[in-house]
Order: sequence, then structure tokens, then C-alpha cells
Amino acid sequence: MSARPKSDPLAEVARRYAVAITPAMDALIDPTDPNDPIAAQFTPSARELEIAPDELSDPIGDDAHTPVKGVVHRYRDRCLLKLVHVCPVYCRFCFRREMVGPQGDGTLTGAELDIALAYIAAHDEIWEVILTGGDPFLLSARRVREITERLAAIAHVKIIRWHTRVPAVDPLRVTPDLVEALRVEGATTYVVLHTNHPRELTEQARAAIARIVDAGVPMLAQTVLLKGVNDDADTLEALMRALVEARVKPYYLHHLDKAPGTSHFRCEIAQGQELVQELHQRASGLAQPTYVLDIPGGLGKAPLASPSLRETDDGYEVRDRDGVWRRYPEDEA
Ligand code: SF4
Repeated sequence: MSARPKSDPLAEVARRYAVAITPAMDALIDPTDPNDPIAAQFTPSARELEIAPDELSDPIGDDAHTPVKGVVHRYRDRCLLKLVHVCPVYCRFCFRREMVGPQGDGTLTGAELDIALAYIAAHDEIWEVILTGGDPFLLSARRVREITERLAAIAHVKIIRWHTRVPAVDPLRVTPDLVEALRVEGATTYVVLHTNHPRELTEQARAAIARIVDAGVPMLAQTVLLKGVNDDADTLEALMRALVEARVKPYYLHHLDKAPGTSHFRCEIAQGQELVQELHQRASGLAQPTYVLDIPGGLGKAPLASPSLRETDDGYEVRDRDGVWRRYPEDEA
């Protein structure tokens, strides 16, 4: 009798979720370190097959707020426009891991883009459009230029915000043509870099960032708090300082969304609160991201930092950098 072949867990992970790493990120991995924080972000693990009961395929509720394909209109004055569903790397903790990857039909066709732009044009409360995906910096400079110009032609769209991991994970893609394609009359462009570890900010990455900022495009950063990657104050401090030095303002530190098979990356909220408190003690205000949680089901973001204000009989107490509560009486009427 022949033995049944054992199933290969990593093959099963790769069957369920896209896998890719760029040469720039691969070169950063220390093969002698079993806990390398770059490898942890991109190398598939059998632990991705462990699905916790509260993990959701659409953890931040994009679907509930999608009026037309590619548009997520969750907040009144802004919407997401998801142009592509592919990425240069596939992060093992991705909150859209059930949607991104080379399979599937997430990339907008020309006709679908027309419908999405018509929706935005018809909603004059939309002040800001957030280009995301997937990673929209995988588009050619020509396509980026076309989308930038079409959005800027909508009178009420004043802010065009591109979310990307490319300047860190594939910095040579940030060509002068791509940077030029971001700039447009009639709207202000921002670029938000997704980066999680200070080692991602290589010399080439910092040069890519400089090309964007030198062109007059402001940059922000978002980081995901990840167990085994950046869940210590030294790493977070080094990352935030490196970003500010590169002229990128830390914007959000995200508590990890409950996407399937990601629990091995998730920290406890109390640990995140301690880390941001320690960052607050150690570093300039410029280096402080807002620690946030996307409420499951598409209910928006909630700030998670411990409160620094509490009421007393005669006013308030405020918490200082060292965690000591200081009395703050209100002026008497
Ligand atoms: S780059 Fe963004 S969308 Fe793509 S896999 Fe990573 S987290 Fe997900």
C-alpha cells in the first residue's frame, strides 16, 4: 500500500496567499538570523494557516463601503481608489491579503476606472482621494500621470494621496518620470510610505524619498506594529528618527488588523500603548505617529494611546512624558 503524500504547509500557504519579495528586500535579509525582521515580513510561514475565530477576510470592512468597483467611501470627505491589486512584495500580515495577488480581478479596467472617477466627480463632498490597492506605484509613469490629471480635473478633489511601499522595497522604480507624474496643477499630492523597520530605509530608499520630496511632494509614513519585527522601543525609535531625517513625517502606527492567519504578528494593545508612551518620552514630537486601530467591520479608526487627561473635582490632571499625573485646575468663571 502506498503512503499518502504529506501535505506541505508552505505550499498550502502559497496556494492561499500571494508570495513575492524584491531583490532590494531579499538583499537585506541576514540568512544566519532565524528571527530576521525583514525575512519575517515577506517569507511565508506555516503559522499563516492558523486562522483565529475573530479573523476576517475583509477586516476593515472595505466591501461594506464600496459603491462602485475600486472605490471605498467610508468617510464623508475622502475615499479610497483601489487601482491595482498587485504589489512588489506580499507582506505576510497584509490586511487585504484575500484581495491582493497576481490572481483575481482587482485591477481596474479602463471602463471601471471611468465609473469610479464618475462616482468621485458626482460626490462633491470628496475632498481627498487615496490611491491604494495593491501598490499603485507599480503603475507606469504614464498611467500615474493620467490618473493624477483626471483626478485634479475634478474641481472638488483637492488632495491626491498615494499609498505605497515602493520607495522602500523597490526604490529604483521611483524614477524622475514617476515623480513628475505625481505633480499637477489644481490639486496637492501627498505620498504615504508604508515601512516597518529602519533597515528598510537603505541608501537607495532614502534617495528615492529625496526624489519625491525634492519635487515638492510631501511624504508621510505609516507603520504596522508587528511582533518580532518592530515591537520594541529601540526599533520604533530608530525607524521614526530615520523617517524624520529623510523628511518623512510618521503619520500612523497601526495596530495589526485581524486578517486571516496573522495572529503570530499581533501585539497586545497594552504593549502598543507602552511602546508609544516610551517613544513619547524618548523622541521629538516630529517622530510621533498616532497609534490607531481600524475598528473591524469598516467602522473607522480609533486612537489607542492611553489617555493623557482625566477629570478631577476642580479641573483636570494631565499625564507628563514620564507618566506622572499633574494637576491642571480650570480657570474659575
Ligand atoms: S504592500 Fe500593502 S497591499 Fe501589498 S501585500 Fe504589503 S500590506 Fe498588502
